[in-house]
Amino acid sequence: MQTASENLTSVQKTNGLFNQLNDYEHEQLVFCHDKATGLKSIIAIHNTTLGPALGGTRFYDYKNEADAITDVLRLSRGMTYKNAISGINLGGGKAVIIGDPAKLSNEFLWRRYGQFIDSLNGKYYTAEDVGTSIQDMEYVSQETEFVAGLPDFLGGGGDPSPVTAYGVYLGIKAGAKKKFGSDDLSKRKILVEGVGNVGTHLLNYLSKENAQIYICDVNTAKLKAAAEKYGAEVVALENALDLDIDIYAPCALGASINDESISRLKCGVIAGAANNQLKNEQVHAQMLVDKDILYAPDFLINAGGVINCYAEVNIKPYNRDYAYRLTESIYDKAMSIFEQAEKLKITTHEAAFLLAKKRIQSVAQLRAVR
Ligand code: NAD
Repeated sequence: MQTASENLTSVQKTNGLFNQLNDYEHEQLVFCHDKATGLKSIIAIHNTTLGPALGGTRFYDYKNEADAITDVLRLSRGMTYKNAISGINLGGGKAVIIGDPAKLSNEFLWRRYGQFIDSLNGKYYTAEDVGTSIQDMEYVSQETEFVAGLPDFLGGGGDPSPVTAYGVYLGIKAGAKKKFGSDDLSKRKILVEGVGNVGTHLLNYLSKENAQIYICDVNTAKLKAAAEKYGAEVVALENALDLDIDIYAPCALGASINDESISRLKCGVIAGAANNQLKNEQVHAQMLVDKDILYAPDFLINAGGVINCYAEVNIKPYNRDYAYRLTESIYDKAMSIFEQAEKLKITTHEAAFLLAKKRIQSVAQLRAVR
């Protein structure tokens, strides 16, 4: 069995946890423990300048506690910039629960977790993420009001995937406009990698525009269903990245843009739903510029889901039209980021990051003069 000290990475051992918080610029890290339910959770509140922190809870069997801490710090910081660039008044936060959800997840663990969230008095709102479900959020809602992603019948926004897909679709159109001079997608060759919740809703938009769609996934049953429903062509996973296409839409896992995929990709635009697509943000964003591939920053175009949560916590009852209206701004924002990146000779990822940072700084200044 590993000791607590063995669990820490060398960075944490040398620099200490507070130095790590300092590097990531976090406000607060909350450790929650409950022996009776086996709950071990860490809530990270990165920045609340724009409003209460919102980000989902990831339930995952981490190799060790250090990995869980690093993950929650990285993910919560990402939420700050995603929320900021989306123009919503939410700060960035995220939580992890350590352990195997198949073994630990039950009503009592979630309700205990809800009590911990409630003790933060609205500084952090949670929602679903990897390893959690809408039912889990229902349990959380029995103990706290600071939860989003609830089902329609509880006044929530339900499944956020359709709204996320709409934002990704707009990001694809903006990318096409910038790269090819028109956002008309008819006959455009588009590869959608991952035909899950977001991917299939995206296929719906793309097929309505008569795009020439290629799909790949590890799940053959999903592929077959999607191909039949949307008239898409199935491509073997091992060949997908070698296709001659216009647009690559990663809608499966993160880090799909890396040395290997960039060397193989033959496309003009990358725009998809997956989180953290760039394996190394600086290196791989620059490699795309060098290869003349336009990259639509993931945290901008996949923000429909969090916008949906905002529509749920900001105005009650939840209003779907409001969520779609806010998501619609993704097209114009993507266009202005493409222009800005070109003007400043920086990557689109960096331009998006700067825009998000600027909004946080400007709101902080507004507050200072109050
Ligand atoms: P999902 O689990 O429903 O779908 C993911 C799909 O990817 C599945 O069909 C799975 O079989 C497939 N897949 C897994 N590994 C693969 C591989 N190696 N190659 C090809 N396909 C593979 O998830 P989702 O909700 O559709 O989300 C898709 C991505 O978008 C995720 O990265 C998620 O974090 C991100 N995202 C989702 C939302 C949302 O609202 N659901 C919001 C923002 C970001």
